[in-house]
Amino acid sequence: MSDDVAPATAARMLPPLDEHNRPYWTGGSDGRLLIHRCESCGRWVSPPAADCPDCAGHLTPAPVSGRATVFTYTVNHQPFNPAVPVPYVIAIVELEEQPGLRLAANIVDCEPDSVRVGLPVEVAFERQPHEGQDVYVPVFTPRRD
Ligand SMILES: [Zn+2]
Repeated sequence: MSDDVAPATAARMLPPLDEHNRPYWTGGSDGRLLIHRCESCGRWVSPPAADCPDCAGHLTPAPVSGRATVFTYTVNHQPFNPAVPVPYVIAIVELEEQPGLRLAANIVDCEPDSVRVGLPVEVAFERQPHEGQDVYVPVFTPRRD
């Protein structure tokens, strides 16, 4: 997947990095989407948390397949950020690893009108400077398999 890493064409909104979310934003440096997983019960947890909400077990970042479907989405036509051309798609995608395991991300490399609920997508990464380092913003593109 690392061949998919390209310099970002548009700045994405990023949170401050901390020990919990850093793997998510930097795992793309080796083409991996890292999500916290409970070492005790195996539950995937997103957004990142300190402990497993089910069993309070210890969470460690683990790679997921990056395959997902669009759960819901919105097409934004308002230029909130002058660096991001409109229209663009903000979606909640559900990862195939676990029902309800959802992330907010942009859908890219397609016409906004072609996005629909249930669309199969896969992760790609956009490299972007953030807080003095490179981060790899997970975005999703329509799956072509
Ligand atoms: Zn657990």
